[in-house]
Parts: sequence; structure tokens; C-alpha cells
Amino acid sequence: PVRVRFAPSPTGPLHIGGVRTALFNYLFAKKHGGIFYLRIEDTDQNRFVPGAEEYIIEALNWCGIPFDEGIGKEGKYGPYRQSERKAIYKEYALNLVQNGWAYYAFDTAEALDKLRAEAEAEGKAFIYNHATRGTLDNSLTISAEETQRRIDSGEEYVIRFKIPTDETLHLKDIIRGDIKFESNLLDDKVLFKSDGMPTYHLANIVDDHLMETSHVIRGEEWLPSLPLHVLLYRAFGWEAPEFAHLPLILKPVGNGKLSKRDGDKLGFPVFPLEWKNADGTTSSGYREEGYLPEAVVNFLALLGWNPGTDQELFTLDELVQLFDLERVHKAGAKFDPEKNKWFNHQYFTRQDSEALAHQLSHVLLEKGIYKPIEYITEVVGLVKERATFAKELWNLSDYFFTPPTTYDEKAVKNWKQETAAIMEQLINLLQNTLDFSSSNLETVIKAWMEENNIGMGKVMQPLRLSLVGAMKGPHLFDIMAMLGKDETINRIQNAIV
Ligand code: GLU
Repeated sequence: PVRVRFAPSPTGPLHIGGVRTALFNYLFAKKHGGIFYLRIEDTDQNRFVPGAEEYIIEALNWCGIPFDEGIGKEGKYGPYRQSERKAIYKEYALNLVQNGWAYYAFDTAEALDKLRAEAEAEGKAFIYNHATRGTLDNSLTISAEETQRRIDSGEEYVIRFKIPTDETLHLKDIIRGDIKFESNLLDDKVLFKSDGMPTYHLANIVDDHLMETSHVIRGEEWLPSLPLHVLLYRAFGWEAPEFAHLPLILKPVGNGKLSKRDGDKLGFPVFPLEWKNADGTTSSGYREEGYLPEAVVNFLALLGWNPGTDQELFTLDELVQLFDLERVHKAGAKFDPEKNKWFNHQYFTRQDSEALAHQLSHVLLEKGIYKPIEYITEVVGLVKERATFAKELWNLSDYFFTPPTTYDEKAVKNWKQETAAIMEQLINLLQNTLDFSSSNLETVIKAWMEENNIGMGKVMQPLRLSLVGAMKGPHLFDIMAMLGKDETINRIQNAIV
């Protein structure tokens, strides 16, 4: 059975790359009738940020991709927070030591820093591995009795993994195919820290095994850890899950990974929800900016994947049906904030006008404007095509609720000597028009223009300016019908004087 996990570390808000990873796990699980679970990897106490875990859960829920198992939910594999599983990891680390796959190391941080600095001075990187471990301060260089004595006396130690020497590792990734890796290039990573906590690597492998993870789907930044992880499964004698490393999400311009700063700089969100930073600043979130979760999910689904057709708009159900790890690209996916907006526009305009009218009515109430919801709904129906976010509705429709107080300067320049006289005639015509529906207004006004040989522009432009205050808005006859006879005539009169 398919069991996949999203395993974030609560070191801050979930950025868009994390949400994409969660989404792909979700889609894969649902496609195969499997389980999508959330595991919180909080073994690095120095990087723990309060509120991050709650943020992650809220973000997944907002996106509409909730987890089946995890914190606050049923599940027989819990606890799902690694800090609550401390005792488990120690046991597994000791097991590796006993079987010769790992060893105690007593090197102090200062000693290691010194070695690193020396190597750097020679233009090399210091690696703690087969080449160096024999000369360092660890249980491979000192006797078992001495090792035990130092542990008993309370000396600080870590447990390191013993990377095998001279081996070509053959790794498999669903997206990247076969990958070869030379074991001699790996270092003896720390599995268990002196603070009594496991490192990410140990906890991650132990939990993926105990929680019966079938597929590990995660970002490309974890690919360098894959050889170690595969070796850990081998050392424990466990069957490894299948791996899929998702392509990076790249900056909209230039090269490199999309970062939080790109969003701040270019003014688009890279977080699902707003986040208060430690320095008092706020990073904007999709939710607060007025993006719709469906649009965000649709956009993210296409960052690194497509179904092989030109289709761009997908419901979550369609994504579940079509999703396929084999179709995920290897190459990084450029993050395009304009495309993100385009998706929002698509979903925005498909919303029910009445639901949007209720949102707009709050804005109206704040301004002291009272209008029946039927009227607001009709207005929304006329303008929503032009909006990407709900917050734009007021600016797009203000003239339906209050007469213009200013007139667009450029348009005013087109107001000719004869315009006032033409508008007077028009008022006359409107006063005698009983049926003020859009279609009748169109018939009547066009007939009148033809009869009197008045050009379109001479009427329509000043008329729009009178009613709207600017050369914007939907079909003019629709606006007149909405405003009604009295208001229409009033506005023309006001414009003439
Ligand atoms: N805790 C890791 C992270 O923060 C998880 C990596 C993985 O999925 O293995 O991304």
C-alpha cells in the first residue's frame, strides 16, 4: 500500500517549495488510494521556531490538501513529532554501533574546526571518513575499554556512521533514473548528537521505516543525502522505500533557487499564509493577499509536472487522476508570479457573483453605502471579468454606488463645444424612454444617433465620462440600466455644468 509523508522541520513558515512537496505527496497518495501523513521533524532544537508547526498544519488545510495521519489525528504509527520519539532513536543508533556500522567519536568542536581550517588553507575540504577517521579521536582508534570509560565518565560523544570504503553505490530515483555515487566521497555523518538527539538522517530513516513509508517524495536539495540514506537502510537490514526528488523551484529572473527575499523584493507572496518574522516584519501570504487556494494548488501542480497536454486548469480531483511521478521533470521549474496571478484570475472570475457580492457588501457598509444584495450581485456580474482579486472589486465598480466626483482629464479634453448640446438632447430622449433595459437603451440611442447623424464617439465618450468619470467599465448600456433613469440623467446633468 502507498504511504507517503510530508516531513517538514518546524524552522519557520512553509515556503512555496514545501507546499509543492506536500501537494505532490498528497496527489500521489490519493491517486493510489494510499495514505498521506504529516511528520514533524523537530530534532534540531536550535532551529525550532514557535508557531511553525501550527502554521504548517493551517497551511495544508487552507490549501485543501489535509493529511490523513499526523498530529491531532488518528494513526497507529504515532507519535508523529520526532521530539516525542527520542528514546526510539537512541536504541537504533546503539544497534548500529553494535553491528559495526557506526562508532562513537569524541572529537571536540574546536578540534574539528581546526582540522577544517587547516584543510581550507590547503584549498581542500576536510572530510571525516575512511581516509581520516583512523587518526581522529573515536572508538575506531581507541580500545573498547577506553571508549566505555570515557562514556561512563560523562565525556561528550556523538555516534557517526561508518561509510563503506571503495564502493560504487547504485541508486534509483523515480524521476532521475539510475544514479551512481562513489562512497569514498561521503563523510561519516553524525547520526546521534551529544545533546541526546538524533540527527535528521537517523530519525528520518528510522521513522520512514517504522511508519511504513512506501515512497519518499521530497525536494532535490535532499538528493545528496540519498546515498547515506540508502546505506542506512542497508545497515539496518531494512527494505528502502522508493525515492523521488522533485526539481528545484527557480527564481523568476536570473538563476538559482527561489528564496523568501525574491518575494519580498518583487512583491509577490512565497508563503501560503502571512508570517510574522522575528525582526517584526511581516512576510505576505497567499491567503491574505486574496489568492484562492484552488488557484495556488493548480499553479503549484504545474511547477515541475504537466500531464503532457496543453490543459492548464485542473480541479484537485483531476490532478489526482492525472498525476504521475514519471512525468515530473528533472530540470528546475521557474516560478512565474504573473502566471500565478493568471491562475487566480481564472478561478476568481468563475466564482459565483452572489458570493463575491457578499464580500463587496462589507466594503460598501464600511463606506456607509447600503444597496440590496441583488443590485450588488448584478454589479459584480458586470465587473468581475476584469478582476484578479476580491479587493479590486470596489475600484472596478465604485461608480455603480457613488457618482463620479472627478473626471478623467484626458477624456475631458475631448469634451467639445457641441457636446453639452448633444447631451441635452440625449437627456430629452432618455426622459421619454420608458423601458430602461440595456437592450432597449441600445436600440433607442442608436436610432436617435442615426436619425440625427451624430457619430458614435460624440455620444458614447462623453456619456461614459458623465456616468463613470473615466473611460473604463463594462458595456455602457448595461451601466445605464443598472443606474436607472433618474441617476443616469442626474449624472449627465452634473457633467454638463
Ligand atoms: N525534515 C526535512 C525537511 O525539512 C525532510 C526531508 C525529507 O523529506 O526527507 O525538508
